[in-house]
Amino acid sequence: MKDLAFLTIKELKGLLESGEVSHEQMLSYFIARAEQHKELGAALETFDKESILKDFKSLGSLAAIPGYIKDNISQNNRNLTCASKMLEGFKSVYDATVVDRLKAEGAFLVGRANMDEFAMGSSGETSAYFKTQNPWARDCVPGGSSSGSAAAVAAGLAPWALGTDTGGSVRQPAGMCGIVGLKPTYGLVSRYGVVAYGSSLDQVGVLTRSVYDNALVFSTIAGHDLKDSSSLSVEKKDYTQNLDGEFKKDLRIGVVTEALEGEGLHPEIKEKVQEALKVYESMGAKIIPVSMKTLQYGAASYFIISRAEAASNLARFDGVRYGTRNKSRDLNEMYQNTRHDGFGAEVKARILVGNYVLSVGHAGEFYDNAQRVRRVIRKEFKDAFDKVDILVMPSHSVPAFKVGEYDNDKLAMDLQDYFTAPMNLAGIPALSIPVGFTKDKKPVGMQLIGPHLSEGLLYQVGYAYEQKTSWHTMHPEL
Ligand code: GLN
Repeated sequence: MKDLAFLTIKELKGLLESGEVSHEQMLSYFIARAEQHKELGAALETFDKESILKDFKSLGSLAAIPGYIKDNISQNNRNLTCASKMLEGFKSVYDATVVDRLKAEGAFLVGRANMDEFAMGSSGETSAYFKTQNPWARDCVPGGSSSGSAAAVAAGLAPWALGTDTGGSVRQPAGMCGIVGLKPTYGLVSRYGVVAYGSSLDQVGVLTRSVYDNALVFSTIAGHDLKDSSSLSVEKKDYTQNLDGEFKKDLRIGVVTEALEGEGLHPEIKEKVQEALKVYESMGAKIIPVSMKTLQYGAASYFIISRAEAASNLARFDGVRYGTRNKSRDLNEMYQNTRHDGFGAEVKARILVGNYVLSVGHAGEFYDNAQRVRRVIRKEFKDAFDKVDILVMPSHSVPAFKVGEYDNDKLAMDLQDYFTAPMNLAGIPALSIPVGFTKDKKPVGMQLIGPHLSEGLLYQVGYAYEQKTSWHTMHPEL
């Protein structure tokens, strides 16, 4: 059969419509491919064919198009582990709204994507099961925490995957794996059935190899959901509609000066972002330097707020309701042992920090101050969007790094969120698109950032760039 691995959703749909490939052949192909590339560690599980076909609807915008779901999103009657021992053996008893909507459009949900434990990490190394490799450089990390989702899409195991983004977990791995990743406006995608990490920051996002495909999948999941009280009352819409390769005349693109000139940025990433800006300039956009003084406080304030919220959210894993339970007959001992054995080191460290920054005597110094900084960051973005239509920043400060490289440098790992976390703090959308490769063939990603609910604009501007370049057509030799 034809090689389907790196075809876009659009192309796969064409093959299905012409009858060249049947829906069963499609499924068999991608299940076999997952098996063939198991050693990538992208999937915690690939489901058997019959169980996937059981739910199949032959009509819909994603009919018979396979994809992976990050394993912190509930799929009815499937395991849900968040890549943690804490949830080993736990089965979801309902579908998350996003899963429900994808199934309604006919999508094949072929597996559970690997991830950093409870979505805490920037490299895919904190999974309690196994690490995920970067398909472009197998001894390097794919980025995280949606590591499996990004690796699966980059490796052609499926044309789309869902991830979640609390501080950068869709955009950073998208950047490091050379694919497209959207972190939507806070509240635009339902979180019903999504395991909470930082509730004021979490959003479900889409990973694909092209902007069009991303917009297509996003159109199925976005929009108001009565089951999620933090859901915005925004109707569903077709985000592929304005993708014509153009954008408005004199589009004002703001380049965050502190991001591009800062010393932490790898010179080759800077170079690729500058080249991408040249492409936009040649298309008629106006490039305007914008200063964002608060950028340097984003990661620190994210660090505190995310840990505080994680500590609260993860209190529910006590051995009583979900997954693992220690056998002790003493209640307190059972709680302690369950949490001791169930959580990995990264998760435990975050719970400790989270409880500390919320504790009496320290909350004022840490948590309250972080919230103040958050308000200033929001305001600075808002002011910036009075002057420009969109902002640009790199998606990651360094190219994919070696597995284990930051084992003894926690700060360097936490600083991976430097360019991504500010948007989660502000609740605004950002789209990471591939803009080239370093000399040693590692992908580079750039973010297009807009005001609340500007996803349509971001897709339009991202798509226009894609029509002038060919990065999105390149794939690893696999
Ligand atoms: N790297 C960040 C963290 O470890 C982001 C995680 C995420 O977005 N889920 O918290």
